Amino acid sequence: MATYKFFEQVNKNFDRAAVYTTLPKGILNQIKACNSVYHITFPLERDNGEVETIHAWRAEHSHHRMPTKGGIRYSMLVNEDEVTALAALMTYKCAVVDVPFGGAKGGIKIDRNNYSTSELERITRRYTYELWAKNFIGPGVDVPAPDYGTGEQEMAWIMDTYRALSPTIDSAAVVTGKPIHQSGIRGRAEATGRGVFFGVREACDQLEDMKALGLTTGIEGKSVVVQGLGKVGYYSAKYFQEAGAVLVALCEYEGSIYSKKGLDIDAVMAHRKETGSILNFPGAQNLDTSASGLEVECDILIPAALENQLTEENAPRIKAKIIGEGANGPTTAEAHDILKARGALIIPDNYLNAGGVTVSYFEWLKNLSHVRFGRMERRFEENAMRKMVQGVEEVVGKKFSDDMIKKIVHGADERDLVDSGLEDTMIVAYNEIKEIRDRHKIDLRTAAFVSAIKKIGHSYEQLGIFP
Ligand code: GLU
Repeated sequence: MATYKFFEQVNKNFDRAAVYTTLPKGILNQIKACNSVYHITFPLERDNGEVETIHAWRAEHSHHRMPTKGGIRYSMLVNEDEVTALAALMTYKCAVVDVPFGGAKGGIKIDRNNYSTSELERITRRYTYELWAKNFIGPGVDVPAPDYGTGEQEMAWIMDTYRALSPTIDSAAVVTGKPIHQSGIRGRAEATGRGVFFGVREACDQLEDMKALGLTTGIEGKSVVVQGLGKVGYYSAKYFQEAGAVLVALCEYEGSIYSKKGLDIDAVMAHRKETGSILNFPGAQNLDTSASGLEVECDILIPAALENQLTEENAPRIKAKIIGEGANGPTTAEAHDILKARGALIIPDNYLNAGGVTVSYFEWLKNLSHVRFGRMERRFEENAMRKMVQGVEEVVGKKFSDDMIKKIVHGADERDLVDSGLEDTMIVAYNEIKEIRDRHKIDLRTAAFVSAIKKIGHSYEQLGIFP
């Protein structure tokens, strides 16, 4: 029997929020429960001929909307509790940002560094086959995506395996986060980090909230610490830097580095590529441990690595005024209470890291419609703008400069549309949860859960319960 620690944490947060809804207990219990978990073991023949048993899981937390959706992670920490908790977080996250999916998550218990590319391919394809054999995958059933330890390559293998098993016109929509030339979408790799940036920016634009923290509005000039330089952390850091924030510390598993003047994210990445570590970056100070960076004086802390990073042990030493949860479940319930009690603004994972699944939704729509966003209208829009410019020139009797025309005459392409859809999603959802927070005088995490529980509850009420 699995022990459910992480899932219990998620449910603790759920219970805190449930009291602000009027849903009957039976429906609340159904929303909370994980509908199905599949634990698979299969043999892998290693390159040297030895056979190894691989453990893998897929949890589908809620089928109130179909398909279910969520990433697949490759990590030694994967277990039934973790995938179940992460699947539940997917359910709530999708509801918060109005992405019409139920939540799921999968994982394979491996350290990917110990396997060759061809072994990883065999593991991924076999896992896909096992999911397919039990109807745990399909464009209308359950749609995986990248997560910790997986990326475009694994998604391409999953699609290819599924297509071989179920070749239909919609097979490409079986998985998201694919490479662009394998039915992916522009902006997916950046999406979670971009969403983190949009969400924190929206929070920083709220005058009253910033006043309460002793801060001014806006991102410019704020000091930021990022933990984790995977896709989420890297892109978050990049967008904060571009918006004029100062990256004072960065943390990775090999250690953390600090510079009051600010670290250039791309220079740090290049240094890490060259030396294998972020440590000893010119002009920066090495900190004691990988987690030391979390405790640095800063305005914004972005934990973008794994779960349970801010705990009751280190929370009393964490000084950030704003915590933007880029990872899933980075803050334990105890740490949340400690940080909240000293007045920190916590922007919760079940809202803040929803950018990835939001753009996954766009990718899924693109795959089902078989047309790139913007393909039909881009030129039409440009021509209409050009005519407008000419009309204004005629009326005013003056010519626009070529530079100005270039800026005005720009039809939206796929990247523009994905970015604008993501920005809108993050802004609308922030204001929804902020309104709930202010109405009930609760924190944003509880408010996000209230928002999700109400939306999921309505869908159960409207559907009835299948006899
Ligand atoms: N793994 C990402 C997450 O935890 C993305 C999931 C998806 O796109 O389905 O949100």
